[in-house]
Amino acid sequence: MALTFFNTLGRKLEEFKPLQDNHVRMYTCGPTVYDYPHIGNHRTFVFEDILRKYLKFKGYKVTQVMNLTDVDDKTITGSQKDAIPLNEYTAKYSKAFFEDLEKLRIERAEFYPKATDFIDDMVTFIKKLIEKHYAYTSEGSVYFDITKFKNYGKLSGLIIEQLKSGARVKVDEYKKEDAQDFALWKAWDSADKDVFWQTNLGKGRPGWHIECSVMSTKLLGETFDIHAGGVDLIFPHHENEIAQSEALTGKKFVKYWLHSEHLIVEGQKMSKSLGNFYTLRQLIEMGHDPIAIRYLLISAHYRAPLNFTFEGLKQATASLKRLQAVYERLESIKGTSNDNKEFQDLTSSTLKKFEEAMDADLNTPLALAALFDYVRDANRLLDAGKFSEKDRKKALEVLQKIDSIFSVMQVSKDEIDKEIEELIAKRNEARAKKDWALADKIRTKIYQKGFILEDTPAGTKGKKVSS
Ligand code: AMP
Ligand code: ZN
Repeated sequence: MALTFFNTLGRKLEEFKPLQDNHVRMYTCGPTVYDYPHIGNHRTFVFEDILRKYLKFKGYKVTQVMNLTDVDDKTITGSQKDAIPLNEYTAKYSKAFFEDLEKLRIERAEFYPKATDFIDDMVTFIKKLIEKHYAYTSEGSVYFDITKFKNYGKLSGLIIEQLKSGARVKVDEYKKEDAQDFALWKAWDSADKDVFWQTNLGKGRPGWHIECSVMSTKLLGETFDIHAGGVDLIFPHHENEIAQSEALTGKKFVKYWLHSEHLIVEGQKMSKSLGNFYTLRQLIEMGHDPIAIRYLLISAHYRAPLNFTFEGLKQATASLKRLQAVYERLESIKGTSNDNKEFQDLTSSTLKKFEEAMDADLNTPLALAALFDYVRDANRLLDAGKFSEKDRKKALEVLQKIDSIFSVMQVSKDEIDKEIEELIAKRNEARAKKDWALADKIRTKIYQKGFILEDTPAGTKGKKVSS
């Protein structure tokens, strides 16, 4: 079966073939570490996790780079508002980002470069663009001349002839209608306060777009296989990355561009600036299971907008429980009858359907539909006791294979223990502050998760209530 992706560059489905043997090199734009990620951001990160895991499932070796944007307009503004140094400010949110990844069972990428560790490389890159006459200096800043790069606009479908030339934009984010020469290097101004690097381009800091061009080529080479992010990055971020990189190397920058659609709230993109967002930690605090959130995020195809509602999250939680229940059932029972061909055929055809759906541009909802058909059939056969040990093991093996990508079915004892421990610590904190109402609320939450509290000489412990 052939794996196909919808390539934003060219806007069509294409068969995936890595540039080098069996090795996939991919760059995924990471978080701007200026706040806690919201679940819209996580929609994109979970999509990229599915992409990574499915490539591995198909037998490829994957090298993934995800950058951390730790200097840009937003991080500088945030650190100034909180009156703490930029590196301390971004360290706090980088830590929060990694905590979220773990809760959402997102596998670690091979590299997480920080932009501030690559300033020298950015300066070298920009100097070469000036030498090649793709970039010029104006009032101490360096701009990329978009009229010099003849393919400017090829990713986002922008028609360069229609643009006003000579205009310049210094901010990192702007609309397609405002496409202009963009900043590679920003001369220091008083608003940046103590954030600057003294380099042979002068005193200043890099623009956001150059950061990704430099970190990706440095770690993956001048041309690599996949570049991914949310659709909001198509313009200007990815368009500008192509211009910078291809102007410098004269080679194709990236073969496949994959973009995930937004998580929306009442028709609008979930975003910090609109204030219509939930962070993962807020939802966990409200008692929602992070795995149910992961499930919700993969229940729609990555190229379809997904509307976030609490009703939707409730339904996702119920569906997830059905999957987890059948997995647990298969783990805990024993087959007693003869081998059942019907069961075995259903098991193999489910894996086949799963792979067909995922091969077709990672169609997760179709893959989940096949899985739910199987859950219904498997439960029927298990109820009737018509299965052998071999049938059961095969079924479990197939579910594990599927879950090596979805990562939602297997309930990890360690994760539960950790969650309960965290809640107990929070309850102890509330008790120490004599906040009895909060302490009681947390006790109820622990109980709802199937645990009661016991006082032991070693402190309060959670004990599982037998069902
Ligand atoms: P940022 O931290 O703003 O740089 O964004 C990190 C990633 O989240 C980028 O790939 C964005 O495209 C993506 N993103 C931001 N908002 C949403 C949203 N509402 N739905 C899906 N992805 C998003
Ligand atoms: Zn980027």
